Amino acid sequence: MNVAILYRDEIKEYDFGTGHPFHGERYSAFMHMLLKRLAPDDYYRVLKAEAADNQDLLKICDQDYIDFCRDYYHSAASGWVGFYENLTRYQSLDNKPIGMPGQLEAAARLIVGQAKMACDLVQGGEYKKAISVGGGMHHAKQRFGEGFCIYNDVAFSALYLIDKYKLERVLVLDTDAHAGNGTSEYLRSNPNVLYIDIHQDPATVYPGTGFVQEIGANDAKGHTVNIPLPVQAGDASFMKAFDEVVLPLTREYKPQVIVRNGGSDLHFNDGLTYLGVTIAGFKMVGEKVREMAEICGGKQIDLIASGYNAEVLPYAWLSLISGVADLPLTVEEVVKVPAQIEQDQVMEATEKVLEEVRYHHRNYWKCFRD
Ligand SMILES: [Zn+2]
Repeated sequence: MNVAILYRDEIKEYDFGTGHPFHGERYSAFMHMLLKRLAPDDYYRVLKAEAADNQDLLKICDQDYIDFCRDYYHSAASGWVGFYENLTRYQSLDNKPIGMPGQLEAAARLIVGQAKMACDLVQGGEYKKAISVGGGMHHAKQRFGEGFCIYNDVAFSALYLIDKYKLERVLVLDTDAHAGNGTSEYLRSNPNVLYIDIHQDPATVYPGTGFVQEIGANDAKGHTVNIPLPVQAGDASFMKAFDEVVLPLTREYKPQVIVRNGGSDLHFNDGLTYLGVTIAGFKMVGEKVREMAEICGGKQIDLIASGYNAEVLPYAWLSLISGVADLPLTVEEVVKVPAQIEQDQVMEATEKVLEEVRYHHRNYWKCFRD
């Protein structure tokens, strides 16, 4: 068996309430569609992880932050949010539940637990790929939660792999529409990580970081590669970014394992973002990631959670995952693709961005000098 899918029903508690864009039914909608279209056991196995404990969380967070999250979200789930003097010290306002939320902190721990299990399964050789449904909390920081993210399982995965398995070359690829500002804070000075982040131009969308000039710090200069694509960048732009920047870098870096995060918010109808990827494009992105992973014997950890169009989300995730894990599935377009999206009219702007990326990294990577 090559593919493990980590999921349990409790993950649905990762729900900020009715009036908030992030809801827990996304997970069951995806699992329902997956199980309906492709039987488990032949192609993949669904496994349940345990929640991360305090020791695990302390790898990525300070104790006072963990205590705050536990108290605050526990009280929110019980229907009472008192006056929290420290709220804005620990959480941005978009992490504030609206209406009746689920047991967010418990689910956030479970997400880190799934990431840990995914790393162990792949490193232990039991599975080539492990997919954490609900993972990819890339905006969360050591002592601050934002962008709907509480505990950063992306950074946890990289740090855990380096710490426990003594890995020296972990490639973290963020394909979410938003830049992974939290992940970047954790990893930008870490010489054992190559962090590649493809996203919508941060001048036009939250979190406002992830420009090409941000290339990493200290011993890890050149190890952060931001690819900020123009508004409306579609399938062809993404393919070009993979073919001309991401794949050559991966070949030169020779990672020991790849951690990818990002869900469906690249879709042209997402609602919170302005990119132009189609359902077919998600499969191509997944296939490119699979091609990258061939360099490290297929070893890949996949963390998937984002997306803000509930109708599109399960189709996009399924299409992406079928590419990542080579599942025999073709997923149909759920919304008619407009002509301007089909043609990817911003290719010229994309080419300019890729040129800039190569320029800023020319002193660090041979593949950009050739
Ligand atoms: Zn996002």
